[in-house]
Parts: sequence; C-alpha cells; structure tokens
Amino acid sequence: MIDGATADLPNFVTHLECSKTGERIEARTLQNLSPAGAPILVRYDLDGVRAALTKEALAERAPNFWRYRELAPIRDAANIASLGEEMTPLIRLNRSTEGHALVKDEGRLPTGSFKARGLAMAIAMAKELGVTKVAIPTNGNAGAATAAYASRVGIESYVFCPSDTPPINMQETALQGARVWKVDGLINDCGKIVADGEAEMGWFNLSTLKEPYRIEGKKTMGLELAEQLGWEMPDIIFYPTGGGTGLIGMWKAFEELEALGFIGAKRPRMVAVQATGCAPIVKAYEAGEEHAELWQDAHTVAAGIRVPVAIGDFLILRAVRESGGYAVAVDDEAILDARARIGREDGLLICPEGAATAAAYFQALEDGTVGKDERAILFNCGNGLKYPMPDAGEPLDIAQPIDWSALG
Ligand SMILES: *Cc1c(COP(=O)(O)O)cnc(C)c1O
Repeated sequence: MIDGATADLPNFVTHLECSKTGERIEARTLQNLSPAGAPILVRYDLDGVRAALTKEALAERAPNFWRYRELAPIRDAANIASLGEEMTPLIRLNRSTEGHALVKDEGRLPTGSFKARGLAMAIAMAKELGVTKVAIPTNGNAGAATAAYASRVGIESYVFCPSDTPPINMQETALQGARVWKVDGLINDCGKIVADGEAEMGWFNLSTLKEPYRIEGKKTMGLELAEQLGWEMPDIIFYPTGGGTGLIGMWKAFEELEALGFIGAKRPRMVAVQATGCAPIVKAYEAGEEHAELWQDAHTVAAGIRVPVAIGDFLILRAVRESGGYAVAVDDEAILDARARIGREDGLLICPEGAATAAAYFQALEDGTVGKDERAILFNCGNGLKYPMPDAGEPLDIAQPIDWSALG
C-alpha cells in the first residue's frame, strides 16, 4: 500500500531539536549532528496527533511499521522504499526458562535485522531531501539494510566494515548493490573514513545517531511493542546496546505514547546489555558518569554490539537511569550458552546479540534482580542464520551396516 504510492502522508513534525541543548533546528533541511555536536531528535505536534489518531483506527491498518505514520517524519509516500517491514512477533520462551520472557524476533525483518527499521526511515528521508549518495560505517547489519533500501530508491551506497565483520554481511551488502570496503580497524575507524569523505565524495553520512531519522525508524519497536501488549508496558526490557539507537528510540516512543494518552506513566526498566569485551556504557553506568570513555581493544562474538564509543552515550545512560533499569555486561561464553540453550529447548535460533540479552536475563532471574512473574522482553535483533555456528553433522558411512545403537 505504501511503496511507490504518491500520496501526501499526515505530517505532524514541528521541528528538530538538539538532544543536548534543546536548540530548535529547521525540520525540512538535511542535518547531521546539531551545532553542539550532539544527536538531533525529531519533535511532533503531539496534540495534533492525539486529535488525529485513535487506537481503534490504528488497529485497522496493515501490520507493518508504516502504520505509525503520524509519528513519522515522511511527507510523501513516494519516497518510501518498502521491502515488507512486517510487525515482528513476540515469542514466549516456554522451556528454556521458568520466567516470563518474550523474545521480540526482529530477525524476520527485511535484510534480517532490526537495522531495517532505522534505515528504511533514514533512506526515505534522505530521498525526500534530495540525497543521491549515502555512506555508513557498520559492523554488518546496518550496511546490509542501507544497501537494500538505497538501491530500491536509486541512491548510491558506500559501506565501510571492520575487516573481521561476518563475511555474510559483506556479501549480502554487495549483492544488494552497495560498494563495500573491509577496513583494517573497528567501527569508529570506519566512521572516521565516512566523515572525512563527506566533502570529497559528496555522500550523506548515515552513521548511527549522526542524522535524525534512524531513531524515528527504531522508535517503531517501542510503538509496536506497546500495541502488541495491548498498550500495557512490560516490566523490563533487555536491549543489546551498541550505538543505542533502539533503546533511545523506544524511550522516545513511550514518551510520545504517553502524550497521546495511549499509555500511562508506567515504564519498563530499560537494561542496556553489552559484552564484557566491549562495555563502555556499563563502565560509565557503574561509575555514575554521564558520558562513556572509548573502550580499548574491543572484542566479542556479538559483532553488532562491538561499539567502542557511542555518540548517544548520555541519552542511553539517561534512559537507563530514569527507567530504574541498569547496564550489564555478559561474557562470550554466556552468550553462546544462551544461544544454544534457547535453540535446543525452545527451537528458536537467535543471534549472538540477542543471546546476550537472554544471558543477562537468565543471570537476573538467578540473582533475583527480575522476578519470575515479571514480564521481560528480550530483543533478538538479527537473524541467527547470519552468524557463524558450531560445526555439525556426524559422518554416516552407507557402505557399512548401520549401527542403530550408536544413533540413539
Ligand atoms: C546494530 C545492532 C545492535 C545494536 O543496536 P543499537 O541500537 O545500535 O544499539 C545489536 N544487535 C545487532 C544484531 C545489530 O545489528
């Protein structure tokens, strides 16, 4: 219904705002960071949205994330490149835990990760504002989503990954039409190349939180979650935190939903989950700091959360603290154990970043931080099939009689 339709969408954007100083910035112009060097947030006329949108009207719409269009920045539906951003299911863990945990399975989105949400929105806005080339530093999934959506609307894309990014991410990105480079460094080194190339190459920088609209796409996770739960907030949300777009976006979504009267004042505790090999936010949280320092020698099997420095660190930490949540790191062994346990006992193949949220949840249940009856949401942010898995398959020689007793 949305893709390629030339129809004006209801638009309630009033202005953009610096997340640090509150400075107002003109909405219909291309922006990266604010003059103060901080992420920019989109602000809406929420009274206007409140008058225009009811829960009942929403319930009648197609089950994809464009259903929240009154809370989105796009004006002309012709700029949207949809690849089928269906609502993602909440899957209860029945056997791998005694607690009440629901996995929000984002691996089913186009390009196999929740990066599709942010980039579908950011690319649509880039198209609307006349961009013809984009560039992005990525640990893999953001590059794949950029490539797919950019190709679909005829924008050129340039993708820079650390050289040890899962090969499948680079391959899918290339097949979806981007130029991909393997950089001998981490994501922040890739980010520097993208920033340095802006003037020379004329590309628009789509780095995490360095343009205003990826957050607006990621925000739909919070809108969707609230709607799926009958506008009841869960008790606690475990979020695998790299740049933190999703956590910041959901926090913004809840604030907007309260202003619309769709939810009350109750909020879930927001838990920022990182890996022990790269835990800048956890370190800052524990030290009571507002900003995080660059993490040295970052390493973890959960590539998507190997982010040594996050420009939105203060926004992540603020949401975590205001919600009464916390930040916690889990080690790679716990991550891989959680992945195996959920696959074996609940039949759900999750990605290592998703498994990190599960590992943090299992730990919290055990030490009593979370009660068994509390409703917890675990974000499985990517499709498990994208990641290396342990070798499997035992040899069976058909030239020999089969020893059935060895098979049981
Ligand atoms: C990007 C990514 C993350 C981190 O998400 P942020 O919102 O940037 O913190 C986690 N897991 C996967 C699989 C990712 O691709």
